[in-house]
Amino acid sequence: MDFYVVANWKMNGSKALCAEFEAGLANIKTDKKIIIAPPFGYLSQFSNLTTAGQNCSQHDSGAYTGEVSATMLAELGAKYVILGHSERRQYFNEDNQLINAKIKQALANGLTPIICVGESLEEYESGKTKTRLKNDLSECLDGIEADIIIAYEPLWAIGTGKTPTLDEISTTHDYIKSLYNYAVLYGGSVKPSNASEISAITNVNGLLVGGASLELESFKSLF
Ligand code: PEP
Repeated sequence: MDFYVVANWKMNGSKALCAEFEAGLANIKTDKKIIIAPPFGYLSQFSNLTTAGQNCSQHDSGAYTGEVSATMLAELGAKYVILGHSERRQYFNEDNQLINAKIKQALANGLTPIICVGESLEEYESGKTKTRLKNDLSECLDGIEADIIIAYEPLWAIGTGKTPTLDEISTTHDYIKSLYNYAVLYGGSVKPSNASEISAITNVNGLLVGGASLELESFKSLF
């Protein structure tokens, strides 16, 4: 199975950063699939690297001011789209039903969705991680049979510097794999100091990286 390293720039970056990554990663020797998810307005700045959107609309087109369709992401060259990121769920009230509709839009437009799921700190501490993941995945993936990518991102690990133990990541990825035979990425405070040990875990098929993907040297040291 392929191993993915996905840079989620969130609402960060510039034309200069796009150019630096394009040049700096163009001839890199790696068997890993490197994917950059810049803000959608910067997708057209990339021609050498594989890109992803960070979100798409559940609609095809129409009077939805501020929205971006899956068709547009595909036209701008994106091959993947991150859907259901915890920041979309938290700040933009996205729920599993909406994410399911977005997944269908993405697939209809030839994009591979990267579906984010993860438990809250309270759920983690009370042993409810598996229940939360099973519920979110079954609702998000209702009626979906195409090959997609899952990103396991514990909410309490995103941008906090905290991560589950390697054993916990391993157990959770094994569990997700027992439910769905898709690539499962880990995300949440991946950095140069922990990337190789997390990457070595069986059933970790890639990394989804926020903060450490914003600087070329730090990103390169993750793979
Ligand atoms: C993310 O936003 O998907 C993420 C994993 O962020 P960070 O690496 O900064 O924790």
